[in-house]
Amino acid sequence: MPLRLFAATTSAGKLRDFRTAAQAHSISIEPLPNLEKIEPPDEDGATFAENAKIKAVYYSLFAPGELIVADDSGLEVDALNGAPGVRSARFAADSGLIDSPDANDNTDVWNNIVLLQRMANIPANLRTARYRCVLVAARDGVALHTADGSVEGIILDAPRGIGGFGYDPLFFLPELDRTMAEIDLETKLSLSHRGRALRALLAILQPEA
Ligand code: IMP
Repeated sequence: MPLRLFAATTSAGKLRDFRTAAQAHSISIEPLPNLEKIEPPDEDGATFAENAKIKAVYYSLFAPGELIVADDSGLEVDALNGAPGVRSARFAADSGLIDSPDANDNTDVWNNIVLLQRMANIPANLRTARYRCVLVAARDGVALHTADGSVEGIILDAPRGIGGFGYDPLFFLPELDRTMAEIDLETKLSLSHRGRALRALLAILQPEA
C-alpha cells in the first residue's frame, strides 16, 4: 500500500507542489481533513525549523496515527541580516505599513514595497538572498523527520513577471536570467526551496524511489 501523508496546508499552490513532487514516489499526499476548522497554532518560533515543527506536531494531534507534514518558508536577504526570514509573510505588517491581514489581500504587494524600500541604497553586488523551506513530518504529537531546501537569488530593484506569489517578481535567478515570477511551475518546483525540501523529505520517507 502506498505511504499516505497529510499536508497541513490550505494553500492550493503548496498542495500542488507536494503532489507533483510525490508523483515520482509511491506516496500519496492529501490535505489534512477539516484543516480550515482547526484553530492554527502560534508560529512564534525563531527559525523556519521551529515553526515547521510547531505546526507538524500540533496538527498531527488532529489525525491520530497518520503522518502529517507541515512547512515553513521565507526569504533571507543578506544585506538585511537575514530579514524578513520567519517574518516574510508579515514584513509589511511588522513595519506598520498595513494591518494584518490586508483586507484586500494585497499583502504580497505591500511586502514587496517594503523590501524595495529597505533595499533602496544597496548596490547590485550586495543584493544576494535565498528562499528557504523546512518541512517536518510528525505523527501523534512527535516530530519524526526534518528536511530543508534553499535556492539562491538576487533581489532586483523593480518587479519582473506576473507568475508565482510573494517575493517572486523581485527574486532573480542569475542562471536562468529570469525572476521566479517569470518561470513555469514545473521549472520552479525543480529548483525551488520547496521542491528541494520536498524531494529530500520524500527520499527519507521512501529512499528506494
Ligand atoms: P509560509 O511558508 O506560507 O509561511 O510563507 C511565508 C512567506 O514567505 C510567504 O508569505 C511569502 O511571502 C514568502 N515565500 C515563501 N515561499 C515563497 C515562494 O516560493 N515564492 C515567493 N515568496 C515565498
